[in-house]
Amino acid sequence: MQSITILGATGSIGMSTLDVVARHPDRYRIHALTAHSRVEELAAQCAQFRPKVAVVGSAEAADRLSALLRGQHVPTEVAYGEHALCEVAAAPDCSTVMAAIVGAAGLKPTLAAAHAGKKVLLANKEALVISGALFMEAIAASGATLLPIDSEHNAIFQCLPLDYRRMPGNHGIRKILLTASGGPFLDRDVSTLGDVTPEQAVAHPNWSMGRKISVDSATMMNKGLEVIEAHWLFGAAPEQIEVVIHPQSVIHSMVSYADGSVLAQLGNPDMRTPIAHALAYPERIDSGVEPVDLARIAQLHFRRPDYERFPCLRLAFEALQAGGSAAAVMNAANEIAVEAFLDRKIGFRRIPELIATVLDRVPHEAVEGLDSLLAQDRRARDCARELVQASY
Ligand code: NAD
Ligand code: MG
Repeated sequence: MQSITILGATGSIGMSTLDVVARHPDRYRIHALTAHSRVEELAAQCAQFRPKVAVVGSAEAADRLSALLRGQHVPTEVAYGEHALCEVAAAPDCSTVMAAIVGAAGLKPTLAAAHAGKKVLLANKEALVISGALFMEAIAASGATLLPIDSEHNAIFQCLPLDYRRMPGNHGIRKILLTASGGPFLDRDVSTLGDVTPEQAVAHPNWSMGRKISVDSATMMNKGLEVIEAHWLFGAAPEQIEVVIHPQSVIHSMVSYADGSVLAQLGNPDMRTPIAHALAYPERIDSGVEPVDLARIAQLHFRRPDYERFPCLRLAFEALQAGGSAAAVMNAANEIAVEAFLDRKIGFRRIPELIATVLDRVPHEAVEGLDSLLAQDRRARDCARELVQASY
């Protein structure tokens, strides 16, 4: 029986994880559920799954959650704050951690799970973008198992040899082909991109996701973050990672081998597939997702990405090439820019401009440890907030 902590249980990935877990009560039980502020949703999840602990973002949210749970006679303990998140991620009676908090807020608890040697199901790509080297070191040192949840990386994982050890050259791997839907603005007139609204940007054509990753998909920063994620997960150099636009999101990514073979993983665009794959790995279980109907889809389309339309993708490749703290700085600037766009403080086209300016102004450094990375993250956020203020 796996005992699971879900960091970010009320989010899109968190809810899909609980959907899969509920289908297999004989295999999985819930150790802890966490949410930032959606207390009512978390209370309902606690009533259904009876975790030992629930964690929220503030003392006030903890009081509200405790009152709701008392009213329903649910015996779950309530805690709050980052320290409590790290505790439930590293708890001895939890074997598996779903890391599904969005953004840098998920970094410390995800690292805590890595240090504690858990089976880490990684959705929180920002953690790897910020601290890839430290994170992979923590996984290796503790003997933790790392399984990618991001659909592309889960697909790549499925297309790699079983004994793969982060060295593409040892396995005749030529390239990792990272597919991208291109988001809602793939065919929109570029000159009108400045006018898009948050509602248009979060309306992804294929996937239903949280607001931040939906905007990242519209700018293609999501694919940029995923290039960096693939670099750390699979040990691939930037030139070994190629982005391919595939608007239908049926192929979730591919691995190209020296003999001309290209292996792909296909499926309907539903995150319950990678979640079920990682939960049960190396077994296979029902996820609730129907298999793809290829005859109905009939055609699959592919094209190369356009950096004019999607400058964020270029910024991410450049940050990866630059190394050190550059990716952390880029990620921090992106988080502030996306928030400002969602709050209607800056326009859509301003997002990449703002990130590029922050990358120019905050000199990146060699990575010395978590504290220096977090200091760079703070500097980048301060710089990005100033730029938002100036353009507001
Ligand atoms: P979401 O916005 O739907 O959910 C985010 C979760 O994080 C919520 O439970 C929220 O309570 C929690 N949270 C937010 N801010 C927090 C904070 N400051 N402290 C503690 N908890 C906080 O996001 P999502 O779409 O589920 O994405 C989660 C992660 O998974 C992201 O890193 C995203 O890039 C990644 N991911 C998501 C998808 C998807 O289909 N949704 C696919 C691939 C990867
Ligand atoms: Mg993805």
